[in-house]
Amino acid sequence: MNLYPKLYLNNVTEITVQMLNQYQIKGIILDVDNTLIDYDKLLIEGLEKWIDKIKKEKMKLCIVSNSNDKNKVETIAKKLDIPYFYLAMKPLKGGFKKAQELLQLESKNIAVVGDQILTDVWGANRCNMFSILVKPINEKDIFITKIKRPLENKIIEKIEKQQRKRRK
Ligand SMILES: [Mg+2]
Repeated sequence: MNLYPKLYLNNVTEITVQMLNQYQIKGIILDVDNTLIDYDKLLIEGLEKWIDKIKKEKMKLCIVSNSNDKNKVETIAKKLDIPYFYLAMKPLKGGFKKAQELLQLESKNIAVVGDQILTDVWGANRCNMFSILVKPINEKDIFITKIKRPLENKIIEKIEKQQRKRRK
């Protein structure tokens, strides 16, 4: 059970083209809740600009969300002009595999971006995709994470420690 992301970032817009090239990423699977939108269903700052930049580099994009709210996921997907799957049941492989089929890429060339270790990161790692963990957008959720997800907390603490070491 590999729960460790390959990268841990503040948010999705920190992902640079250079980074993607470095890891030979040609497609990105995106989570929605707390990754692209906040609690009030608003797109995070700078997201549309980032999507435009990424698309210009011929990066293929697909949304894979566990949400059962089709309307919400579809609205975001249409706004960003990205194909989507909802009710994906991550960390099960099904949703990732559907996205992979659509992207027509090898799993090693696909990055998965999400804010949850037990769904996004674990699922990506199970599919041999490149896992990128981002901090959940909403502070409310960070609070919930702190009390409700002790396992995820321990992992994040470990990752942060490693990152501090690397910077020294
Ligand atoms: Mg999420």
